[in-house]
Amino acid sequence: MNNKNLIDTLEALSNSVKETVDTVLKATKESANNVVKKSENIVEISKLNALVASKNNELSSTLEKIGEVVTLKFESNIYIDPDLVEYASQVADLKNELDEINQQILKLKNKKQCSQCGEYLDNTHVFCPNCGAKQEVYEAPTETCTEDPKCEEKESEECPTCLEENNADNKSEDK
Ligand SMILES: [Zn+2]
Repeated sequence: MNNKNLIDTLEALSNSVKETVDTVLKATKESANNVVKKSENIVEISKLNALVASKNNELSSTLEKIGEVVTLKFESNIYIDPDLVEYASQVADLKNELDEINQQILKLKNKKQCSQCGEYLDNTHVFCPNCGAKQEVYEAPTETCTEDPKCEEKESEECPTCLEENNADNKSEDK
């Protein structure tokens, strides 16, 4: 091998090394770009997911509004599409059931709701402290002496007439 050949070989080797280094650098750069792109995608996806959630909420509340308008018309005997009557009457039934359940809860809490303004009041209130409307008088459960059938004295703890104690079981049956 003469010098010229040696130089050529070295040059060729050097070029090959350069190419390899370039290829490796390029690949590294691309993969780094991919990582950046991937994390950008993740951010973009989570932004879009949040947008989907918010639009879904908007959709639900708009559908709810349509339902409310239709139900209100149905309750006011205004014509609605016959296809919607079944749903509207289901809503009306559910509202009634909810009313009844809420009334039961109020009763258990010894509360009532003002029919005028909707304020929650104690059962003992005759007038609403909020709007002044007269309230339905709540009748306290009458507790009749239960031990002696002839004794009709109404007392809670002990009947003063026959002195029999009214037990709790009998009291709770009073409504
Ligand atoms: Zn009121």
